Amino acid sequence: MTEPQAFDLVVRRGILVIPGVGRVAADVGIADGRIATIGESLSGRAAESYDAAGKVVLPGIVDPHVHIGNELSFEIEAETETRAAVLGGVTTIGIFLRSLEDSYFDHLPAFRRAMDERSYVDSIFHPQIFTEQQIAELPAYAEQFGIRSFKFYMSGMPGIVKSVTDDVLLDGFRQVASLGPDAIVCVHCETGALIDQARERLKASKPDGTLADWEHAHPAEAEALAIQTAVYLAKIAGAHLYVVHLSSRQGLEVVRACRREGARFTVETTSPYLGISSDDANGFLAKMVPPVRTPEHRVALWEGLRDGTIETVGTDNTSRALATKRPQAGLHGSRPGLPVLGTHLPALLHFGRLHGVPLEVLVDRACRAPARIYGIYPRKGTIAVGSDADLVVVDLDAERPVRAEDLNGMSDFSPFQGKVLRGWPVATVKGGRIVARDGKIVAPPSGRYIPRSRPDDAATAARSHRAA
Ligand SMILES: [Zn+2]
Repeated sequence: MTEPQAFDLVVRRGILVIPGVGRVAADVGIADGRIATIGESLSGRAAESYDAAGKVVLPGIVDPHVHIGNELSFEIEAETETRAAVLGGVTTIGIFLRSLEDSYFDHLPAFRRAMDERSYVDSIFHPQIFTEQQIAELPAYAEQFGIRSFKFYMSGMPGIVKSVTDDVLLDGFRQVASLGPDAIVCVHCETGALIDQARERLKASKPDGTLADWEHAHPAEAEALAIQTAVYLAKIAGAHLYVVHLSSRQGLEVVRACRREGARFTVETTSPYLGISSDDANGFLAKMVPPVRTPEHRVALWEGLRDGTIETVGTDNTSRALATKRPQAGLHGSRPGLPVLGTHLPALLHFGRLHGVPLEVLVDRACRAPARIYGIYPRKGTIAVGSDADLVVVDLDAERPVRAEDLNGMSDFSPFQGKVLRGWPVATVKGGRIVARDGKIVAPPSGRYIPRSRPDDAATAARSHRAA
């Protein structure tokens, strides 16, 4: 007889939704921050137990696309926005870091410290690359900070970033490709010249207008064309392309056409594009870049997510307060950026159900696929023995209106506000501890930055570990 195993926490009687496996009625035994056992009626001693009867238990959500520090400081948002995230069932985020001119060596230590000391969720970094110096330093960022993914903008943002030209993209893609086959170029695909022209024409033709008009500042054709360019440049460079935030039916059609011709790359969409249309009653509260579009685009994106053309879903969270969002400033004056970490999972559950997309598919796109692509699977993105004990317990039938004050981030609005969503998390386990429960944060921040290593380094490390 062996002693029954001692657990720090057992999540009992839930229905586990395991990517690639399906639904399993089982308990999860957790020790030292990891999943120690999955089984029926676990009999080991448990310091704490959580009764998940009548609920589903999902892997903690991995949101690969988050911006931190665009409104308040990085340090403050590292706490406030990850608090909203973990309350909403998100336990790992990929952060697009911004340094328009400086070397990232000037900022990476502070970014990392903030995520180690203040965050409720684990994190990986994707620096946004703007300069030749940053391109030259890419291998050193990879080496010293365990970074394997980098972002490039094909179109600029007026007053912030100039549109990036193809020569810079190609140099950057080649440099990332030189890091190894797991390294990723994340690309904002919109053709800069078409966007610049469309914005100017919209300003002239519609000095005032509605959210529905905003779509014309970022025509779908500019997205579709840019995807073709990015696919071609990535092929020349031998880089793994990851198209961030696909927003349009035309973009999706180009993705399908490129794949038919043998191109291999990855595509992401966001929960705002899946849940909000340009006729939304919240108007400019839902202004973002690229824009939310007409319902036909939403239908197309859901179809793409279901059939696997779109592999991952994130948020593109860029938190703002009403005072800086300024919806009253109208079509051209209100600012893009949506606080959407806290509504990510409920929106996927609610609108996924309306569009007939099975929970198993959602869990793959929102957990396993991003973890795999960014090199943190199976530590993240699944429910398996040895994985980090990051879980979200969900009441699929809970219905609640979205209210900014319940979401617990820094923002005083939500683009989903007023909508009644069905399917909400009731508890989030992060690193083996219950961190959120019944809409309240119940534990201090315990997030960590996750440096990533080349897969061959990881294999070498595992072999030497076994030999020791
Ligand atoms: Zn983004």
